[in-house]
Amino acid sequence: MAGVVSAPSGAFPPDAPGAGDFAIGSRVWPGVSKVLEEMGELAQVLGKLIAVAGSTSHWDGDLRGRVIEEAADVLAAVRFFAELNLDSQELRAFNVRVFAKIQKFHDWHRRPQAPKPDPEPIETPLPPAPSDDG
Ligand SMILES: [Mg+2]
Repeated sequence: MAGVVSAPSGAFPPDAPGAGDFAIGSRVWPGVSKVLEEMGELAQVLGKLIAVAGSTSHWDGDLRGRVIEEAADVLAAVRFFAELNLDSQELRAFNVRVFAKIQKFHDWHRRPQAPKPDPEPIETPLPPAPSDDG
C-alpha cells in the first residue's frame, strides 16, 4: 500500500512522545512533515521578498541565496516524498505531470494573459439558517 513503508529500526528516540508518523524514517507517509516544513521556510523567505518589493536586500539579510536554498529544499522534499510513497506507476504519472506543468508554466510565461471569468460560475448553496423554534 502506498504511504506505508517499513521504518528503519531506531529511527526515533524511545522517549519520543509521538509515533513519528509522517516524518522521514516513519512507516506512515514518510517525508510529509518535511514537505510542510520546507514549504513554510520557502513561504517565509518569499514573504520577505514581497515585503521589500522584490529587492533581495532585507533587514534580515540578503534574500537571494535563501530563496535558492529554500526553493531547492522544497523540490528535494517533494521528490523524496514521491520516491518513498508512490509506486512505480504513480511515480511515472507524477513525473509526467511535473513535466507537463513545467511546460505549461513556461507557456504562460511566454504569453501571459489576463484571467478570464468562469463561463458558468459555480453556485454554492448555503445551508438553511438555524431556526429559533427548534
Ligand atoms: Mg529549508
